[in-house]
Amino acid sequence: MARDLSAVCKKCRREGEKLFLKGERCLSEKCALSRRGAKERSRYSRRASAYALQLKEKQKLRLMYGMFEGQFRRFFKLAAKRGNPAIGLLLLLERRLDNVVHRIGWAQSRSQARQMVRHGHIAVSGHKVDIPSYFVKAGDQIELRKPDSASAQECAELLDTVKLPPWFSAASSGKKVQITRLPAAEDVAEIPINAQLVVELYSK
Ligand code: SF4
Repeated sequence: MARDLSAVCKKCRREGEKLFLKGERCLSEKCALSRRGAKERSRYSRRASAYALQLKEKQKLRLMYGMFEGQFRRFFKLAAKRGNPAIGLLLLLERRLDNVVHRIGWAQSRSQARQMVRHGHIAVSGHKVDIPSYFVKAGDQIELRKPDSASAQECAELLDTVKLPPWFSAASSGKKVQITRLPAAEDVAEIPINAQLVVELYSK
């Protein structure tokens, strides 16, 4: 299984923007971008071409969800088959199991969530799922496979502190979350990405 082991903060520095890949650290003074004023160090100049802006937006989105180029392009093709590819791409990315575990608050970052899934800590509707790109469906129940462990207790406490997206609902004292419906366009409106630029890039 391919894994991206490159330095995480370097990705933000390269794009010149915070991509929030390291959980709490990203919100603290320790963030490499907060310390260095990386906007100035971005590889994209202020007078970047339309192509450079499209490329930047695609890279940001791909890195935020921790995907390789090939897999990201496959997601795009799938979204394009289902109508509006810009919104469709964001909706598909949100449905990834690793993203859901992160949104629930059980993991500080998507990469930590991916590790939890890969290590078999997550079950979907009673079955172990260790595929981070698994698409959740309406009605799925996401739960920790060892609900009595200390780490499950920690996860339950963390769930209390996060604001769940409107398409989730918590159950079993924070150790289980139900997907009440699939995400809709309004649920991805706050993702700081102009997905239309990604569509333009891949439509060339
Ligand atoms: Fe990016 Fe987070 Fe590192 Fe800051 S701390 S550079 S936001 S990954």
